[in-house]
Amino acid sequence: MARLRRFWARGGIGLALGILLAPSVSFAAPTGEERVVVVVAADRDDDDVNGVADGAETVVRGRAADDVVALVDGATRIEVDKGAECARPLVSGHPTAWPSARGAVKVQGVAPCDVEGTVVRGARRTPFTVHVRAYGFRGGAGEDVDPTKLHASMERTAPASAPADAAASYDDPDALRIHVSGDESAPPAVEVQSYGSAGNALDRLEHLPLAAVACRAGEGAHCWSSAPIRLVVDDTDRLQALVLGRSLRGEVGGGLAVRGGGRKLQAIRIEGPRSSAVGPIGRFRVQARPFVFRVAAGGAPAFGATEERAIGIVRSELALASSTWGQCGVTLGPPADIAVKVVDPPASSLLSFGDDAGLPASGGQLHLRADGKVVAVTWSAGLDVAAVAGKVAAALESQGLKVVVSPNARIGPGAGPSTDLLVHRRSGAPVVLEAANRDEPLSTDATLEVRLGIVDLSDGLQHFGDVDAVAGTLEERALVKSIDDGDPTTLDLVFVPFFGGGGRIGESFIGSDASSVENVVLLDRAGVRARRSSFTLAHEMGHVLLDIPGHPDDYGIDTPSSLMDSDAADASAFGPRRISVEECARMIRESGPEARTPLLKPWKLGPIRY
Ligand SMILES: [Zn+2]
Repeated sequence: MARLRRFWARGGIGLALGILLAPSVSFAAPTGEERVVVVVAADRDDDDVNGVADGAETVVRGRAADDVVALVDGATRIEVDKGAECARPLVSGHPTAWPSARGAVKVQGVAPCDVEGTVVRGARRTPFTVHVRAYGFRGGAGEDVDPTKLHASMERTAPASAPADAAASYDDPDALRIHVSGDESAPPAVEVQSYGSAGNALDRLEHLPLAAVACRAGEGAHCWSSAPIRLVVDDTDRLQALVLGRSLRGEVGGGLAVRGGGRKLQAIRIEGPRSSAVGPIGRFRVQARPFVFRVAAGGAPAFGATEERAIGIVRSELALASSTWGQCGVTLGPPADIAVKVVDPPASSLLSFGDDAGLPASGGQLHLRADGKVVAVTWSAGLDVAAVAGKVAAALESQGLKVVVSPNARIGPGAGPSTDLLVHRRSGAPVVLEAANRDEPLSTDATLEVRLGIVDLSDGLQHFGDVDAVAGTLEERALVKSIDDGDPTTLDLVFVPFFGGGGRIGESFIGSDASSVENVVLLDRAGVRARRSSFTLAHEMGHVLLDIPGHPDDYGIDTPSSLMDSDAADASAFGPRRISVEECARMIRESGPEARTPLLKPWKLGPIRY
């Protein structure tokens, strides 16, 4: 007996649904009466992504007609006895009143109930039933989430067990129950399928368990709900025991569909958090520019031994960071579309003034060799750093060279800000700068430091400390400015072999530093190796997107599951991978379309073929 019941609950009903879902003519045995039976979903999703529910379109065409089912051919009249409001007949895509539906009539579900009546074809009268079921998405407070107006979101909460009662409220702001309602008493067999932003099938929960729950006003006679379904980044989160069987991989820009009988019944798109201090957060794209530095010119890349391997490693880092930021609706786009460049460390083309203390000049002279040509510049005492840098820039330009002048943020102990000159030929090729005489200093000024930015990655990249964090070290600036495109709204990602001094695996330059180095993330090979235990790239991206130099645990609140925790390392589902809704809202304020530096570009959804 038990075996038989299990058979019906699993395979039996799925089979019955498969038959019923196709438009069918069934012959009821007792009376021999011919009856047309059709099952449709109340069409509340928006398959053509035009902001109008497919079931409310004035003309149902193209993708909006994806959930429409044929009812009858050659009708001369349709009489409805009950449930007329629960479905609408379509003739050539045009919604029609039931009595005037003629010819080839299709049917679109509107609300959950059974529609019953008679199809008249000349002298023939055939009774029909349209079972309209509603498949919906319900949030933690029991609220219905309209798939046309709102969206599903990636999981931001660490695993926790689901409430035993299928009608109980729950805390998780992202997970959604699948809710089904209709007039039939048997629970339907449904599965849940997720799709990527390219429309690719991503993950599936077969045989979604549904439990009977009380129906609300406007629902059918019978209602069922699932456990809260979570959309997650990876198998670590998907296979965790507390959430196993109700978690599936998702992707921002993709979708979550309820399916049955081989077709999609209802779908909702995946974007950012459904509610936040700045309202619902949609989908945003960040344009990343990744560079992998070679240890030395022409040498091996920072990691991966070959260029191809290095590019592959970077792409998988980008995929992980992108899916992690999916929690806030952010994506870097398909990793295969991101150009990853493997480049030599820059030649010494950067000249820095006042790099140390930013002190004004005591008067002096510069003797520089630029591409072999000697350039001499003299200045008097009292000039500030920017004025001296300006004089030297003019002298270099008069030699036919191209000079980019970039002031840095003033560091804590500095008297004033330092200024860098980046020197190129007219062709754009970097110019090699060196002291005119090897045995003499570059400049004779006793207070105003003039230094060459020399990058030597063989001893590690000299990284900033607390004192010079806002400007970065001279070596960091020489490195980063060599790949700068002058566009602060792109995110530059710099991969180096290792940081000097040990301990550090990643760092970032953020917009609020008011530095000329802005929105740059640096990562070394240890940061790349830490991958899923530390989420280093996603963490450093967080400093840039949130425009925040510190960490939540700097102030004593230890949050080891937070992506922005400074030192957590844990490869489990409780590791440092979660982003709070407050952080997502801050991200929109600091980097969204209205921000001073809009790193986030809104990215409209396109239709998915389910
Ligand atoms: Zn950090």
